[in-house]
Amino acid sequence: MTDETLDPETSEGWYEYRELGRQMIEDMIEYLKTVRDRPLWRQMGDEEKRFFESELPKNGIPLKEIYEQFKGQILPYNMGNIHPRFWGWVIGGGTTGGALADMLASFMNPNSGGGDHVSQYVEKQIIQWSGEMLGLGSDVSGLLVTGGSMANFIGLTAARNTRGGADIIQKGIPQNLTYYCSEETHSSVNKSIQILGIGLDNLRKIPVDSEYSIRLDKLKEQISRDISEGFHPVCVIGNAGTVNTGGIDNLEELSIIAKEHNLWFHVDGAIGAVCAVSKETKNVVKGLNLADSVAFDFHKWMFVNYEVGCILVKNKIDHYKAFSLTASYLTHQNRGIGAGDLWFSDYGLDLSRRFKALKVWFSLKEHGINKYGRIIAQNIFQAQYLTDRITAEKSLELLAPTTLNIVNFRVIDPNVKDLNKLNQEILYQLHERGIAAPSSTILDDKFSIRVANVNHRSKLSDFDLLVDSCLEIAKSII
Ligand SMILES: *Cc1c(COP(=O)(O)O)cnc(C)c1O
Repeated sequence: MTDETLDPETSEGWYEYRELGRQMIEDMIEYLKTVRDRPLWRQMGDEEKRFFESELPKNGIPLKEIYEQFKGQILPYNMGNIHPRFWGWVIGGGTTGGALADMLASFMNPNSGGGDHVSQYVEKQIIQWSGEMLGLGSDVSGLLVTGGSMANFIGLTAARNTRGGADIIQKGIPQNLTYYCSEETHSSVNKSIQILGIGLDNLRKIPVDSEYSIRLDKLKEQISRDISEGFHPVCVIGNAGTVNTGGIDNLEELSIIAKEHNLWFHVDGAIGAVCAVSKETKNVVKGLNLADSVAFDFHKWMFVNYEVGCILVKNKIDHYKAFSLTASYLTHQNRGIGAGDLWFSDYGLDLSRRFKALKVWFSLKEHGINKYGRIIAQNIFQAQYLTDRITAEKSLELLAPTTLNIVNFRVIDPNVKDLNKLNQEILYQLHERGIAAPSSTILDDKFSIRVANVNHRSKLSDFDLLVDSCLEIAKSII
């Protein structure tokens, strides 16, 4: 055989794909439509796990059979983040339109690293729209990435290479560079700092106030001390929505401090940057537009299907210089597929890239930015509603001020000594019984049940059910 291919060999073969494809779409749309009727999560038993220990397939089997395996062994054990009562970590639920668009992107299957073809233009439009949405202007540079972690990495790299002084690309990294952020900053920033060779000791973690925002007085003190001791301050990182509590730093003040010391101003807005799209919530992230770079996630509070995050960088040259590298085999051509003046692979780590922009493009068009704004405001309102229910209940305790869409609380009882153990058990049972999925954190040594609401499917009654279930589970334990 010399003409073997992975495509069907006959028109019957193509027909089978068509029929099965139709069936899959029908099944999946029904699956989403009925998501509320099923338990949120089902634990995989040992037998279910063993299914994934089978041998490497030597010969193929019909797609239909694989689809049956999918329905039996994979689909029932989904994470649960598509469910209306999933509020764990900060995880979006996706949309039906987003899923269909992602499927179309797979059918087209371009490599969005560069070249003169349509995926580059779609992504360019998404970057422009993002700049407009967040107030940085549509003339911004940017890149769609896997998520907030990669977005932070790119922003912090541009910061290092632009403000790090020496010729970092050729000579490597000076040992005295310092970055600044609050203690509440996300772990992905730590990862970037490690990988960038800055060293965690040189990431100055500044204390926070009672609202979990960075203490500006402490920040100024630390910068002055570092300068007098011969360090080279490079970048200040502001938070628009911290992961523990949804705290927001004073971005306007941070930008003034950054300017004063010629620091790069990066904002980790993985959760909260999108507040800028709603009239009602815009004020929460005042000063976001003053950042040199902003990391945010489409797959969190913009509800786009996994995975897609975004980094915006105000100065195109700074962004380009940090990541562009054109090997001879990648030389941009004047004509043909290898042409095009904007190659996204010049703006990040990845050369080969999925057509992520398509699901974002579909989503923004399908719903329009006003609806996103309304749902973001609705999620904040729901968080406030939950907060009110907690404070009204004498056996519940609010553990942090609700500043955005994240609520921290626990069950309390005068007869229970180990409240941490009690609340951990409540959380386990919420998950195991498939009722709801908050996650947890530790605040002041207290185990906190943590609700991060980026769920466009939640209703107020879902939060009632959460409160009632917590109380009921507590009662059954105590
Ligand atoms: C989720 C999150 C990140 C990381 O984003 P991913 O999309 O998970 O990579 C960074 N910062 C904050 C504040 C986050 O909540």
